[in-house]
Amino acid sequence: MRLQVQALNNRRLRIQFMMVVVLLVSLLVGWMPAKAAESEADPAVQEVFGQLQAGKRLKSDRTYVTPEQPTVYLTFDDGPSKLTNQVLDILDKEDVKATFFVLGEQAKAHPNELKRIVKDGHAIGNHTYNHVYKELYSDFQTFWNQIQRSEDVISSIVGIRPQLTRAPGGTATNFDANYFYLMEQAGYIVHDWNVDSGDSKRANVPVNEIWQTVKASPLDHEINILFHDGTGHESSVQVLPQVISYYKKLGYTFAALTEQVKPKQFAISKPKWSRSMSLPRFQALLDQTQEYATAHPNAANVAKIAEEKRLAQKLEAEEEAKAKAKKEEEEEAARILAQQAALPLQVHVLGGNTFNIEPSVYKLRANQIELPLRYLIEKMGGKVEWQASTKTANAHYGIYDMDYDLTNRSIRLYTLGTQTATYSLADMDMQNNQIIVPLRKTIDSLGGRITNAVMAGDNRQVTMALRPLYFFKENNSILKNSLFAMGG
Ligand SMILES: [Zn+2]
Repeated sequence: MRLQVQALNNRRLRIQFMMVVVLLVSLLVGWMPAKAAESEADPAVQEVFGQLQAGKRLKSDRTYVTPEQPTVYLTFDDGPSKLTNQVLDILDKEDVKATFFVLGEQAKAHPNELKRIVKDGHAIGNHTYNHVYKELYSDFQTFWNQIQRSEDVISSIVGIRPQLTRAPGGTATNFDANYFYLMEQAGYIVHDWNVDSGDSKRANVPVNEIWQTVKASPLDHEINILFHDGTGHESSVQVLPQVISYYKKLGYTFAALTEQVKPKQFAISKPKWSRSMSLPRFQALLDQTQEYATAHPNAANVAKIAEEKRLAQKLEAEEEAKAKAKKEEEEEAARILAQQAALPLQVHVLGGNTFNIEPSVYKLRANQIELPLRYLIEKMGGKVEWQASTKTANAHYGIYDMDYDLTNRSIRLYTLGTQTATYSLADMDMQNNQIIVPLRKTIDSLGGRITNAVMAGDNRQVTMALRPLYFFKENNSILKNSLFAMGG
């Protein structure tokens, strides 16, 4: 019984110990990937993140075009509504183009108005889905989701994914550097305004008040003026003809916003929303926005991609042309070489005969003529014997005997049977069972010399002087073998 209890205790201890081990291991495993992920953050992203957290706006690489004419961009937010058609009628009558920053929610409720905006040639911007500040500005993710949702609605009705956006309430005290940066990364252009008509200061702002506000607003080369065509903005519709006429008289032209118009943006001020951002969170949002930009290349991106593609193609074409030129050069060189190789080599022996060495027999290598030893000696009227046992060729020419020792790559020269010299002939080689030797060195070994060599164009001539042959009556067998009627 006692033993059983002890065994039970031991077992319990073992189990507890195992549990501790499992816990420690799981803690370690759980901790390690988190640590790894943190250190994996791209240093460039960390740098950007740091700057944004310090409240710095990071410059985008977009370029804009300033119109020649002073221009008014009429903008209408919060629609479309049942008022939108009235606005469109006025714009049509005045022959003026404008921009509508629509809410996804409203677009869904008024698809025909949205269609007419596009049909009439006005621009559409994205003003988020529901305009609820608390949702939009508590977290960029929610803002982003609403932009996407609204865009999907707009796209489903008119097939457009607007690049132009406007933050509900404007960016001041709503956007921070993260919002601006992430929207830009996704390819959007955020427009605030530089003239506020004051038509949404409160409900039912009187026409005259709006008119006075517009008239009192400063003039600029480009004016982005804020109006609303949402429900309850009848005053805005009523004041519109007056406003258009006012700017026309001042010499302004009217245009819809495009991706080329530099957006009016408020400077960053302290947000009235409490938000927090961590590096992993920022990285995740950056991934989302950049993925969106890749999946939806906008006009600017398309132009950039096209330009990059054009440059890449140009580079490729240049490389190809270079490779082609090189190939042609090589082919030409090979052709010349082949042509040259096809020429027979004419050999003149001074005071002796002239013979041709067939192109298939000799070759030019490293500026020297190489040819089979046997061929050369025999052409000169000599004789070559191959001693297989010693791997030596004996060439007999006149009073000269030469032993070409292939193993040692040397030539032993005999004059009248007496060894007179040893030459090293490093270039000596065995090809197709033939001993290949350089012409000049061989002639030198034979006691002669090349007096002239012409290797230009189709003229291949070598002139050589050979020592006169001496005839000795008391000659030995070698000499007997060497007696050839050559030269003098
Ligand atoms: Zn709004």
